[in-house]
Amino acid sequence: MDRLKELPSALVWDIFQELSSIPRASGNEAAVASWIASYASSHGCASRIDETGNVLVIAKSSEGCQNVPPLAFQAHMDMVAVRDETCRHDFSSDPLDLSIQEIDGEPFVTADGTTLGADDGIGIALALAIMTDDEIRHGPLEALFTVGEETSMAGISGFPGGMLGSKMMINIDSEADDTVTAGAAGGSDAEFSCVLECAGELKPSALKIEISGLTGGHSGIEIHCGRANAIVTLARAARRLMEKIPLELTSFDGGTFRNAIPTSAAMVLAGRDEDIRSAAAALSSIAGELASEFRETDPGIDLRWEQVKPSPSADHEQSRRIVGAFASLPDGVFSMNDEFPDTVQSSSNLGLVRTESGRIVATALMRSLVTTDPIKEIMKTHAGEYGLDLNFSGDYPCWKPSSYSPLLKIYEKVYAENCFAKPRVAVLHAGVECGILKGKYPDMDIISIGPNIIGAHTTGERVSVPSVEKIYGLLLEVLEELMDGAA
Ligand SMILES: [Zn+2]
Repeated sequence: MDRLKELPSALVWDIFQELSSIPRASGNEAAVASWIASYASSHGCASRIDETGNVLVIAKSSEGCQNVPPLAFQAHMDMVAVRDETCRHDFSSDPLDLSIQEIDGEPFVTADGTTLGADDGIGIALALAIMTDDEIRHGPLEALFTVGEETSMAGISGFPGGMLGSKMMINIDSEADDTVTAGAAGGSDAEFSCVLECAGELKPSALKIEISGLTGGHSGIEIHCGRANAIVTLARAARRLMEKIPLELTSFDGGTFRNAIPTSAAMVLAGRDEDIRSAAAALSSIAGELASEFRETDPGIDLRWEQVKPSPSADHEQSRRIVGAFASLPDGVFSMNDEFPDTVQSSSNLGLVRTESGRIVATALMRSLVTTDPIKEIMKTHAGEYGLDLNFSGDYPCWKPSSYSPLLKIYEKVYAENCFAKPRVAVLHAGVECGILKGKYPDMDIISIGPNIIGAHTTGERVSVPSVEKIYGLLLEVLEELMDGAA
């Protein structure tokens, strides 16, 4: 690591090495928090640890810079703890084993056998290096280092409002140095449920229909790709059958996480022997139609059916209603944003359905850059029409993007002047810490940047040395620009 001592950002690497010697898997951040607090104090900064375990560091302005508008940095202290199968690293006690790896002439810092935790240790190192370096002139600076970002976002959620004096914040937890993130969607869960009224006698036959092999994906990243949703698609197939055949619903299960586009689902339908035979015959042509409908997006789509032992089922009328509700539930992209190109504004993903103790429960995750309220209204109408109960929970606020953000303008300017190109401006459709912070500090002007990190959350994680230099330089330019603006 000695080669790093000669770089302008040498202090960043010193701090990063110190951080890497302190175990800091999610849930185990107390030691790193106290190291940061004491490092900050011994370098003339104020620091405090809040009740949740987050650290707030405050650096006074350099002499003559009191009128410069205050700026906050933000990063998370915890890291994903993954090691190679053969690696004996103990994440509760061992320091990471850092080394430099050259790939196509580009130096990267990596950790042998484990995740590196550049996500997001490098964000902390960049912020602390700038705040504690006497050579760097700046206005008032704050830095918020959170716990639990990789698991529950408990740190940022527990961080109190009214603590930060800054109206501008740079989150340093992005992983591509040519990109600046300027917004992210908020979200909310919609849970549909109903009791299956299985009062009648057992039907003589039953058919289990399974759909599988779908492409799936992350509902915050791939919702615009037009991929089939296994739950909705299976419900459509079943509804087709039930239009002509008096089948009854026994169970409906599918999906794994509410934020994943479901790739498989299964439904059991009961009926008379002749109805089950007609259903099986009709499914052959439905399978062919689905294969052709989703040829591009879901080439692996597979619809299968088999006779199974009958179990209690709801009557045909209720079965039709339930299946109809999921077959026609609005799902996927609701609207696109017109300020930022190719950016989804709002969407919903029906990610899970389960039949448990005679109840069907299904959860959709709704996302929006502005508010999920319009989707909630659509869901309420839909649930009402089909006689389903509906509950909303898990609201988290959006980080509404604005192309008029003064901080974004400053970053775009310094980026263009120093890199001779425009940064890519990204708006995420998934939840991030900035969104939760924005809920507590609605007037905060936020951007998110970071150096190139490859393979985050894997043992191949590495961070590019020149890219850290680039981000360090750009952060210094932002500080300069703020001082120029105040002069
Ligand atoms: Zn991160």
